[in-house]
Amino acid sequence: MRAMLALDVPEYVGSPVIMSDFPEALDCHAAMRRLWEYLDGELSERILEAVHAHLAICANCYRHYDFERQFLAALEAAQAEECAPPRLHEQVLEALCAEGFTP
Ligand SMILES: [Zn+2]
Repeated sequence: MRAMLALDVPEYVGSPVIMSDFPEALDCHAAMRRLWEYLDGELSERILEAVHAHLAICANCYRHYDFERQFLAALEAAQAEECAPPRLHEQVLEALCAEGFTP
């Protein structure tokens, strides 16, 4: 299962003993609550590592993480695309005006 995770995790996370050594080990609920901040890079290093560690061992949360990450990437890609050309704006506006719309 772990082999499926493409996450770059520190070595120490792999050992099952570690979780007890890790004071901020998160459960799924706590990890998911911090997912957006994690993706935005807004977490302190300690929490960030805790979320990171959880994602490395929890396939369920990792799926959520992966989805959100792709969602954000798609959003960024969409925003990077150019706006509609000015001529299209005019055409839409003309069409709307023809229908009685006042800008
Ligand atoms: Zn989880």
